[in-house]
Amino acid sequence: MSAKKKSPCPAFGKCGGCSWIDKEYQEEVNEKSKALNKLLAPFVKTEEFIAMEDPYHYRNKVLSTFGEDSKHNIISGIYEEKSRRIVPMDNCLLENKKADEIIVTIRGLLKSFKIRPYNERNGFGLLKHVLVRVGYSTGQIMVVLVLTSPILPSKNNFVKALIKVHPEISTIVINVNERNTSMVLGKRDIPVYGKGYIEDELCGMRFRISPQSFYQVNPVQAEILYKKAMEFASLAGSESVLDAYCGTGTIGLIASRNAKNVIGVELNPEAVKDAVNNARANGVKNASFYCDDATSFIGKMAEEGVKCDVVLMDPPRSGSTEEFLKAVVRMGPEKVVYVSCNPETLARDLKFITKRGYKVSRAVGVEMFPWTNHVESCVLLQRVSNTRPKAITLDVEMEDYYRIKGVRTND
Ligand code: SAH
Repeated sequence: MSAKKKSPCPAFGKCGGCSWIDKEYQEEVNEKSKALNKLLAPFVKTEEFIAMEDPYHYRNKVLSTFGEDSKHNIISGIYEEKSRRIVPMDNCLLENKKADEIIVTIRGLLKSFKIRPYNERNGFGLLKHVLVRVGYSTGQIMVVLVLTSPILPSKNNFVKALIKVHPEISTIVINVNERNTSMVLGKRDIPVYGKGYIEDELCGMRFRISPQSFYQVNPVQAEILYKKAMEFASLAGSESVLDAYCGTGTIGLIASRNAKNVIGVELNPEAVKDAVNNARANGVKNASFYCDDATSFIGKMAEEGVKCDVVLMDPPRSGSTEEFLKAVVRMGPEKVVYVSCNPETLARDLKFITKRGYKVSRAVGVEMFPWTNHVESCVLLQRVSNTRPKAITLDVEMEDYYRIKGVRTND
């Protein structure tokens, strides 16, 4: 029976952000755990779901959209689910509290600086959104003002006024987005205060977060998830590791400390740049990152008989592809650690690969998005002995292979 409680959020039912906030947290955890167990039951018994100890205010990335109400008062908040209407919102139970406070301060400053919010209907106005990103363990804060033009009137005074109220802000960036599309950020970032990026620490490594870069929104649980992935991989130090769908290289870089070498592949060029920078900033010399489609990249590796002991993969919600999984089977790594943000596509991919010489030996759900429907999990696949296809085991080390090919990105 569902234990109904009064929703503690006035925007519940309008915003669509947290569909479970009117229930007890344990109930959400039970449901997620049950759904995951059911999907993975044909493969393995799932371990106890790892819930979040304090499931509030975990989001380190907070976006607020600016506009006007019918009386021309400036409002800020989130789009109503499936519409472009702004639901005013000053504090959200999921979002970092300081980030919410900064957004309210900015809203309060706009009038005296004669900064108008953007009006989608007539195209007038300057300020579209404010994005605040917080480095959970460093405490650094980045404020991104998304404007329709690179020119912010009285820029210096505005920055001064904001810093006076919030001296904890590390950097302020203007992002220029002239186009009327659903994309929040435009391509151009102009730092107007501080370095233009912040840093955070995860599993003892430092990661750079720029306005555009992907970074897990729940760093407390991301650390738990990554530790689980490392536990599943149980690297001894001699392995060649492929980190597929690597984003900014977080998982691969953490793995590099206990591996011989790591190769990361990622489609988004900005994320690859961040991964390369992250490797440098952490003094990691045995990892390199490539910008490519994971399927075509691993396909080439398999074709040429490149040696790989462990594949770490963290695909988007659509999951991986049969071609990718076939290439994994051809390369025959001892272990595959699959991090998934969608248990349905995970189950589909497991069904495919477990018919081709792999078995699932461990699986666990890790709460990454409390109060929402998203279910994250981590699965360990192991090669069933003697199934490594002999023909392709040329034992070319991954590093040698890419040195020969001359496609290293971080030289
Ligand atoms: N492992 C990273 C990112 C995971 S999110 C982390 O934990 O931070 C999934 C990533 O897959 C995104 O960065 C996305 O850009 C990337 N991606 C999506 N499709 C891809 C493809 N076809 N080939 C390679 N990377 C892809």
